[in-house]
Amino acid sequence: MTPLARCEFCTALPKAEVAILRWVDDDRERLTLWLCAKHLGRIQQTGTRGWEHRGKLHKVGWW
Ligand SMILES: [Zn+2]
Repeated sequence: MTPLARCEFCTALPKAEVAILRWVDDDRERLTLWLCAKHLGRIQQTGTRGWEHRGKLHKVGWW
């Protein structure tokens, strides 16, 4: 299995590689993650508040 074979957050096939900002308080990581349509949609819908997964918040874009 290659690292690109699955969505970052589930076992679905990824739809797109997306620039994601992941943060906890002031600790920010700029990542490029493969996401399925469902998770990309969730993160986009949640917007600047951030979508939480395992105690970390995520949003689309590195700003
Ligand atoms: Zn997913």
